Amino acid sequence: MAYPKDFYPSLSALKRDLVKDKHYRTKVVDRGSDITVIAPHGGFIEPGSSYIARAVAGSQLNLYDFQGLRRRRAQELHVTSTRFRDRRLNDLLLHTRLALSIHSMGEQGSGEIWIGGLNLELKQRICDQLSLSGFVVNGDSPRYRGVHPANIVNLASEHGVQIELSGNVIAAMFAMEGPPFGRRVTQLPTTERFDAFVGAVRSAMGLEAAA
Ligand SMILES: [Zn+2]
Repeated sequence: MAYPKDFYPSLSALKRDLVKDKHYRTKVVDRGSDITVIAPHGGFIEPGSSYIARAVAGSQLNLYDFQGLRRRRAQELHVTSTRFRDRRLNDLLLHTRLALSIHSMGEQGSGEIWIGGLNLELKQRICDQLSLSGFVVNGDSPRYRGVHPANIVNLASEHGVQIELSGNVIAAMFAMEGPPFGRRVTQLPTTERFDAFVGAVRSAMGLEAAA
């Protein structure tokens, strides 16, 4: 999600000011796939997006997950997708055909999932699969359309798809109180909605529902 004005104009400015592994960390898994799943606002920045991105990637797709580890004022670690640049992500995108980014839009778009991005074919397939699984999907959203060519998700050779989930859709995917992220937590309790979401997005990409 985009905030009116980011605290840091770039990821490099953020990294100059904050401490790696204390305030933020980056998880990168290059599986040699031509599809890369990206959580640019993971950790406490957009809670749930890291965990969802990891499940969508499963054991086949590349994963890039930038995690804000600071729980207070986590929004200050949000660098908008059109300005989000990281050498390790660039390295992945060099051999990526399709990119998929996972975001939370907080209180906006209540109950809905907004699908954007410049790969219209994959966008349509994801919209169809999510609708079939009972999600309320908007492929023509008022904001967060992800159509800017500089958006990180569109830097893959065939561009990509940006998924914005409202906070209450994410909350229904987890059987827990509080934000679905913990810096030392590897397994979180999930619900049937989590499996439905992950399965729908994976099958839109021609993958088995479960990793
Ligand atoms: Zn975001």
